[in-house]
Amino acid sequence: MKFKTKVIHAGQEPDKSTGSVIPPVYLTSTYRQEEIGKHKGFEYSRTGNPTRKVLEDCLAELENGSLALAFASGMAAEHAVLSTLRPGDHVVACGDMYGGTYRLFEEVFKPFGLEFTYVGWEAAEFKQAVKENTQLFWIESPTNPLIRLIDIREVADIAQNNGIRVVMDNTFATPVFQQPMELGADLVIHSTTKYIGGHSDLIGGAVILNDRNWYEKIKHIQNAVGAIPGPFDSWLMLRGIKTLAIRMKQHEENAIKIATFLKDHPVVAEVYFPGLESSPYYELACRQMAGFGGMVSFKLKNGNSETANRFFRKLKIIALAESLGGVESLINYPAVMTHGSIPEKQRAVIGITNDLIRFSVGIEDAGDLIEDLSTALIG
Ligand SMILES: *Cc1c(COP(=O)(O)O)cnc(C)c1O
Repeated sequence: MKFKTKVIHAGQEPDKSTGSVIPPVYLTSTYRQEEIGKHKGFEYSRTGNPTRKVLEDCLAELENGSLALAFASGMAAEHAVLSTLRPGDHVVACGDMYGGTYRLFEEVFKPFGLEFTYVGWEAAEFKQAVKENTQLFWIESPTNPLIRLIDIREVADIAQNNGIRVVMDNTFATPVFQQPMELGADLVIHSTTKYIGGHSDLIGGAVILNDRNWYEKIKHIQNAVGAIPGPFDSWLMLRGIKTLAIRMKQHEENAIKIATFLKDHPVVAEVYFPGLESSPYYELACRQMAGFGGMVSFKLKNGNSETANRFFRKLKIIALAESLGGVESLINYPAVMTHGSIPEKQRAVIGITNDLIRFSVGIEDAGDLIEDLSTALIG
């Protein structure tokens, strides 16, 4: 099945009892057993629910994995993966990452005895950071919020040579534009809140992998802790996924136009988008991605929170908000908003300065978006 067919059909067959083309929302906490332990695969909805199962089967196919677990949020998915480690285990992560992931590492897992080393985006830095107790490499690409790319295959090769597993957060690229398993990643994480859901109407997360043993451990944690998505949210995600392929195409088309417009704008100092031929990541993007994505970051000349606020206030279509990946355009001030939980010193190392703006380009008319930006930038 080609990807555009998968997003419509993967994991989904007409309902056996009614023929319903769309998977029903199974709003039930429990399931009748004919005899003790004799059931149709479901016992209790924390452990498993048919609507969630359809979503998990669908997600596994989209990422070319064999197994998937859906969670109540991206953070819950990350929490479950990290919970399979033990005190004394070491994780090497690219420092240019989602602020909440950094907070989870430092404030939740570090006190329980996990060790973290933050490196840059070059594969060689991962190699240098390897220690005897290193269990995981943790990467995002494109990174958040500076839209840098990491050579996934190179990082995966280093991991494999050292008996380390690669966790890849594919939230920004989505399986439409990047297939991390094909490039050597062992486990893919999503905040399905973003492009997978696609409509800014839910919070969700997912884990996709092939290793059954690791899957069983994560599933055990999910069942023991309980951070599951409800049946209705699972259904909303399935509904969102149906248009994932065409949405991503439009996000990208608009992002290319926006990045090109910003690059030549007199008050813009720098634009971060791998789809610009002038980007240091253009060549790598062409090699490991099937598209450039819909995230564009940029810096304002002499920008600070005041000039940024003046710009944000003038925007009429584009909304200042946390999050990304919805059909509507959202703009964000990482230093205080999405990445405020990263200490200022660490932010400076990564390049999250007070002139940085992150733009999740929506699927509105690109001309309208450019006009909105243009008016707000000049004023
Ligand atoms: C939003 C986000 C997360 C966290 O997911 P939630 O669904 O908000 O819990 C993790 N990684 C990336 C790249 C994100 O953008």
